Amino acid sequence: MGDEQLRVVATTGHIADTLNNLGGGDLFTVENLLGPGIDPHTYVPTEGDIELFETADIVFYNGVRLEAQMDELLEQLGERGDTVVVAVGDSLPEDQLLDWEPENNLPFDPHIWNDMRLWMQVTQTMADTLAEVDPANAEQYAALNEEYQVQLQETHDYVLAVAESIPQENRVIISGHDAFNYFGRTYDFQVEAVQGISTETEASAADIQQLVDLIVEREVPAIFIENIVAPDTIEAVQAGAQAEGVDVQIGGELYSDALGEPGSPGATYTGLMRYNIDTIAGALGGAPGGE
Ligand SMILES: [Zn+2]
Repeated sequence: MGDEQLRVVATTGHIADTLNNLGGGDLFTVENLLGPGIDPHTYVPTEGDIELFETADIVFYNGVRLEAQMDELLEQLGERGDTVVVAVGDSLPEDQLLDWEPENNLPFDPHIWNDMRLWMQVTQTMADTLAEVDPANAEQYAALNEEYQVQLQETHDYVLAVAESIPQENRVIISGHDAFNYFGRTYDFQVEAVQGISTETEASAADIQQLVDLIVEREVPAIFIENIVAPDTIEAVQAGAQAEGVDVQIGGELYSDALGEPGSPGATYTGLMRYNIDTIAGALGGAPGGE
């Protein structure tokens, strides 16, 4: 690549952090568009963001329609050919994706990082792309990928083990929006949310009442707020359950579609997966911290 370092842009923090584990900051630069707490479903790129994309060597984005306000633009940029543009989730086999709302042009659930086995494949895709674009460092990308895959596998095993410590009847995750369906499939939870798959639609009184009914019926001990969704709707669910005599707790804040601030437990992808399962286990009668 001569003296100039490869410039790589990531939309989500999950992708940027993964790139940092594949040599980002050392073999190439990483710029992260969507910082802590920013909602990728509704984010509209600015002129400056578009310039950032256009001047990058590679842009990685989640795809599967997560970045609904910018994926068309990114697709067109890729077609022009000056920048390598990769929607990491779109490389996954469709039979591993959860169906969603095809009638709303959302065929699959985009929250793929919540199944760490899917994210292992996505990481491989990123490492392969880096090696293709920057063949001089191909061996290093392969070695770094191998190392990071071990860390991902260990974190996956940890999440599984802590999830198993939670009594079966308590394995229900209720949160602000539907980000945890892959988590539920992989780590064995029933998952319910006030809002649907995207944060773009408003929650209705009927949605809230449905969750209240579930909490009362199953005696759910705790529900969760998220770092990208205002807590109001979850607090409304809590108040609704309390009005029916069930004292459901707010079990903590989960990292959903964005990483946490630097220095917080959710500042890295593996950190947020550990933090989320520990928070869930602590609130639902399990053993956080792997005992
Ligand atoms: Zn989401």
